[in-house]
Amino acid sequence: MKDITRLFSSMVFDDSVMKARLPKDTYKALKKTIAQGTHLELDVANVVANAMKDWAVEKGATHFTHWFQPMTGITAEKHDSFISPTADGKIIMEFSGKELVRGEPDASSFPSGGLRATFEARGYTVWDTTSFAFIKDGTLCIPTAFCSYSGEALDKKTPLLRSMQAIDKQAMRVLRLFGNKSAKRVLTTVGPEQEYFLIDKKMYLKRPDLIYTGRTVLGSPPPKGQEMEDHYFGVLKPRVSAFMKELDEELWKLGILAKTKHNEVAPAQHELAPIFSTTNLALDHNQLTMELMKVIADRHDMVCLLHEKPFAGVNGSGKHNNWSISTDTGLNLLEPGDTPFENAQFLLFLVAVIKAVDEYQDLLRVSVASAGNDHRLGANEAPPAIVSMFLGDELTEILETIDEGKAYHGKEKIEMEIGATVLPHFPKDTTDRNRTSPFAFTGNKFEFRMLGSAFSIAGPNIILNTIVAEELSQFADILEKSADFKADLANLIKSTIQKHKKIIFNGNNYSDEWVKEAESRGLLNLKTTVDALPSFIASKNEEVFAKHQVFTETELHSRYEIMLENYAKIIRIESLTMVDLLKKEVLPATLGYQSELVSLLQKKNECGLDSTVEESLTKKISELTVLLYQKLGKLEEKMVQAGTITDTLELAQYYQNAVFASMSDARTIADELETLVSKKYWTLPTYGELLYSVN
Ligand code: ADP
Ligand code: MG
Repeated sequence: MKDITRLFSSMVFDDSVMKARLPKDTYKALKKTIAQGTHLELDVANVVANAMKDWAVEKGATHFTHWFQPMTGITAEKHDSFISPTADGKIIMEFSGKELVRGEPDASSFPSGGLRATFEARGYTVWDTTSFAFIKDGTLCIPTAFCSYSGEALDKKTPLLRSMQAIDKQAMRVLRLFGNKSAKRVLTTVGPEQEYFLIDKKMYLKRPDLIYTGRTVLGSPPPKGQEMEDHYFGVLKPRVSAFMKELDEELWKLGILAKTKHNEVAPAQHELAPIFSTTNLALDHNQLTMELMKVIADRHDMVCLLHEKPFAGVNGSGKHNNWSISTDTGLNLLEPGDTPFENAQFLLFLVAVIKAVDEYQDLLRVSVASAGNDHRLGANEAPPAIVSMFLGDELTEILETIDEGKAYHGKEKIEMEIGATVLPHFPKDTTDRNRTSPFAFTGNKFEFRMLGSAFSIAGPNIILNTIVAEELSQFADILEKSADFKADLANLIKSTIQKHKKIIFNGNNYSDEWVKEAESRGLLNLKTTVDALPSFIASKNEEVFAKHQVFTETELHSRYEIMLENYAKIIRIESLTMVDLLKKEVLPATLGYQSELVSLLQKKNECGLDSTVEESLTKKISELTVLLYQKLGKLEEKMVQAGTITDTLELAQYYQNAVFASMSDARTIADELETLVSKKYWTLPTYGELLYSVN
């Protein structure tokens, strides 16, 4: 049996390694940099780099890389070896402070959404000292942020760190008002629950659509889907169990707190949840988790699918972003406290989140928009595209009481006067949780459930941190000027509830009634990515990002452009893949089968035998094939037409309304043909074969 405690973090240059290997002064200087986010002096960096290199080489590393997160949504690395030539023709292993703190990858091929045209093309990476260096696959990885020379963020990490600073600053103002003198910083914490599919590699390799797009663009439902609900929390199959065991160990070595693993609702679907950590670490760790899932699945002759909707008609995969705010002293600000004063503080943070979600529904929706996630949001499985909040009956009742100025007669029969009451601790009872809510309070944190499985958690958390920072800053502005803190606090909480309670919904988010009710409440229903994206650059949103120095106007617009371009590119790749499959696999299959049927039909007619079956099947298949051929032609026409559109928004709209719509038309017919054509001719593995391929 392996000693997990020794395994854990063994590949991380973490605090204990720093302490053991760095001279005292250097260690102190580095700790100061980490705690205060100050500049790391070059002489200190040189000592740290050398110690890091020695440690990494002992662990078998030969290379180092600045590890960063460009706007592609995945991580990037460029490996340099430690070797350096000496005068006598030999080499030594070297790593300098300069190489540690700053790198210059060629930025020109990463998406920049027009930033490059306006600004300096080159970019550089800088060490995010709050995220430890680690060894992966024989390479020392330095987690970095990626910026252009003129200072624009070119990655997902930089704005996340900025948003964490923003909420830190504003939350500290509020805490000081409540007399908190001990906290030095406020941090946001995240525990992302990750869903994924595992399928057999041999089957995967026979599906070009999975290879090129991550999802099946064709395929009719299997006889057995998820209706028996026998997969959820079911016994793990041996291959899956072996995969999960190896994954856990590899994650633990990297200091990632992988905690829970289980089967999900759909066949072949699974989930992994870590213990939460500070948001930027949670981001790095989630990216590593997704990467390792793919690598380790491959070692087990499987493929890990992270796409939001690999199979139509089968549950898709999401990522639940459990989010909270806490002080550096470990106080969770979304946890009802033990004293009346703490509870008033809890209520203020709570209503700040309520106000934020209500006022920035559009931004939250944008933060989870992608071509892949369009298949989930609004379908009857994931949360709908309408953003609302679940608070649970008890907390809602308490807020109603405040709203109406009445006494609260809940379980604990407490008088509800802000600042003079003890709130009940809300049980984290899983049974009464509302699984349909996009944004649910779960006892001491919020669970934002709209993220797609393939997402970087950076985007949604940048938004969450920024919008909550904004509300806290408004609250602090009011309360800092207050002459009667208790009265003004009570009024502020009350008026915020009154204004923003429309965002609270504890019912079934999947029902049609909710769609109608949400509309009457004036909540947004941005159904698709293309519907949602333009809100990203609405002037109120530009303002909030600029005010908290998270995105400049230029940065925001460049990101908007990238998201639109991405959408169009994805649909284009999917449509090209579909055209290819229809021409090379589906049409040949139906024509082959028809030819067999027709010759049998002729033979039977010659012998005077009954040929009703052949006749009717041939007729049906032949008609559908003609129809499919027409739809294919339409799709190709639309794709040509798309080539003439230059405006990015118009192009994305066209891809959604014309190209994607044509794909759906063609798919319906192809999927029907799949149910009619003999297996002998149907070359693509079916859903049944894919979903039940691992045992
Ligand atoms: P479940 O949702 O499966 O019942 P939990 O509620 O315990 O499980 O936790 C779900 C996820 O939320 C885990 O990843 C956990 O680490 C995370 N989590 C728990 N507390 C916090 C917090 N204060 N901040 C952020 N994430 C948290
Ligand atoms: Mg959950």
